[in-house]
Amino acid sequence: MARAMLDPSEGQPVAIERQDGRSPVILVCEHASKTIPQALGALGTRPETLDSHAAWDIGALAVAQRLSALLDAPLVFQRFSRLVYDCNRPPEAPDAIPEMSEVHVVPGNRDLSAAARRQRIDEVYEPFRAALAALVSARATQARPPVIVTIHSFTRIYFGITRHRAIGILHDRDRRLADAMLARAEAQGIDTALRNYPYGPEDGVTHTLKEHAIARGLANVMIEICNDLISDEAGQQRWAGHLARLLETALDSLTVETHATSRQKA
Ligand SMILES: [Zn+2]
Repeated sequence: MARAMLDPSEGQPVAIERQDGRSPVILVCEHASKTIPQALGALGTRPETLDSHAAWDIGALAVAQRLSALLDAPLVFQRFSRLVYDCNRPPEAPDAIPEMSEVHVVPGNRDLSAAARRQRIDEVYEPFRAALAALVSARATQARPPVIVTIHSFTRIYFGITRHRAIGILHDRDRRLADAMLARAEAQGIDTALRNYPYGPEDGVTHTLKEHAIARGLANVMIEICNDLISDEAGQQRWAGHLARLLETALDSLTVETHATSRQKA
């Protein structure tokens, strides 16, 4: 049998915090970490690549952890870099194991053998997917069905173009929660939120939403925050507060609508 990629001393690829949190929200952070398993070295990259948004979503885990505390919601996150495997992509996606990320080249991902590719999937993606699926299943029978909320960050300047908005509210074909959030963002102090920004479903970024929420009929949303706003603790606290209030008011409105609909049907 081939040697494992992850050494036991490196821990599990997936972490769950606040597993018994009382909120219906399940927070997910696929791009939480810039850690590369020792067995892969630095994937042949330059040090600046491993510190950049190419390797991870800067500030996203810290915001997700604060949100988890504010909402009393469980948080599932990946403990290794998206350069090893991007857990917001299915195994068949060409960029699941990226050879290039914006201007950053990843030599260690070039010409991977089928076995090496399989190992990344089996040791990084599958445990993450399974842990999240199990958590969603365990909560699916509760009175308030789970709501999947994924937390990401984007870089202000991308391919030389400056992005001026603070927040993107992203959705695939189930737009209930995104619509409710966008309708209430300004009143919650977020006047710079934009729908499907700076990416959208056409860019393949809604894999987690489709796999874990849409397939089960659960409300869901993906939140993208500009990373220069959450690079320090003050910014992380501020944006976690804004988002907690926005999510709570948006979810309250969905609950009211759901009740109204079921009364009409009855
Ligand atoms: Zn991300």
